Amino acid sequence: MWKKWGITPRGMDREVSEAMHRTHMGVDQDPENLMMAALKVSLADGWGGCMFSTDISDILFGTPTPIHSTASIGVMKGDEVNVILHGHEPTLAEMVVEVSSEPEMMAYAKSKGANGINLVGMCCTANEVMMRHGIPTAGGFLNQELSVMTGLAEAMIVDVQCIMPAIAQVAKKFHTKIITTSVKGKMIDAIHIQFDEHRAKEIAREILRLACDNYPNRTTEGSRVSSFEPLIAGFSHEYIEYMQGGSWRGSFRPLNDAIMAGRIRGVVGIVGCNNPRIAQDSYHNYLATEFIKNDILVVSTGCGAASCAKAGYMTPETALEKAGPGLREVCVAIGIPPVLHLGACVDNSRILMIASHMVEEGGLGDDISDLPAVGIAPEWMSEKALAIGVYFVASGMYVIFGSESPVEASSVVKKIKTELWEKRLGGKLEFINDPKEIFEKTVAAIDKKRDALKLKKYEKGKFGAERVLMTMADRRKFEKEQAAT
Ligand code: SF4
Repeated sequence: MWKKWGITPRGMDREVSEAMHRTHMGVDQDPENLMMAALKVSLADGWGGCMFSTDISDILFGTPTPIHSTASIGVMKGDEVNVILHGHEPTLAEMVVEVSSEPEMMAYAKSKGANGINLVGMCCTANEVMMRHGIPTAGGFLNQELSVMTGLAEAMIVDVQCIMPAIAQVAKKFHTKIITTSVKGKMIDAIHIQFDEHRAKEIAREILRLACDNYPNRTTEGSRVSSFEPLIAGFSHEYIEYMQGGSWRGSFRPLNDAIMAGRIRGVVGIVGCNNPRIAQDSYHNYLATEFIKNDILVVSTGCGAASCAKAGYMTPETALEKAGPGLREVCVAIGIPPVLHLGACVDNSRILMIASHMVEEGGLGDDISDLPAVGIAPEWMSEKALAIGVYFVASGMYVIFGSESPVEASSVVKKIKTELWEKRLGGKLEFINDPKEIFEKTVAAIDKKRDALKLKKYEKGKFGAERVLMTMADRRKFEKEQAAT
């Protein structure tokens, strides 16, 4: 289909450069041509950039497997040097994790009066180091200023993307040092320590020493928070395959079978940002609650994953308490949460892989567009989120974005991104700013796909009914009934 419509990307930077040229004054002036080009550049990002980055990170630092961690601003510790790892590129953060437990580094922290070094994550770097090392997350995009305002952060290390422009100004009110590390992202009033892969550990130690030196400057300023939630992260698509059968029989068959039987109604990805125009996490949490209650398995990445983690939805116990009976039965059998943490924004490529495996496994159609699955970014705000949404559409997925539509004013563009894209590729993009409507449209789309696949009608409560031990009286009654028939 990509070949047919001329949207197979030729290379990542080439497509980005071409997009910049097309949108220059006086070049591409045909909305359909522009929108098809948007699909092409987004595919370069998804199946090229993101998937490549995920694979290379897994090769360098390890493919994630389930790991215990904690989430919320309460993960900052009162008696240790708190260092916030914020941004998106895992290379420096991995090195900081590695050197933070060196005896010399621990001794240095103690020499400054602290009991140790406490690393916490923020935004997608948090997801990277949590998935591989269980480092706790202080939260997503809208938690960054709040974490500084605890007065407990000795340093915040940032690189690229989603760093609030005023973070260094907020930090000036406290003792926190903001340290920029990328040549692409400097900031007034921050300290710049340029990251260099050839001196990676040395730089990581330099930054940690700077944070330790700042510990004695901590005051009583700030609002301390002590609560946090436990979670299990680390669900790579490789592990999801493994958990459904082990080393020898790992496959996506059990998941497909559960969907075909109606135990699991469908699968939804709740991903993406926080948005200052929406009460933080409110859409993420409402949707996660409603989906799992209705037997829909949720996979999550980015700040969406952080919000589900902070709400306490990422433990296997959540399945017992909050999931519908069919989904609960599957989660309990495998021992997984009903909301699976798949990693950072870049790891949306893992969702593409899961969708591809499900199609390949058989029984759920011949294309990603046949799956009873929907992608949702309910609180999106960044350009990157849009690119991700569009590469899911180009891969055949129905995608819903919450908040406002940047193309609301154009009926032509609205028609292209819904009707034309769906006709050509099976996926479409809608903006819906009401979480209840997002939920209803998602469920309707899932049920429609189930009908198109001629799967059993989903019936709430059909599976997973409470098992009751029969008493002798029950047994006699049962036998009598059997004999009578
Ligand atoms: S989900 Fe959005 S806000 Fe969060 S790190 Fe990714 S792009 Fe940034």
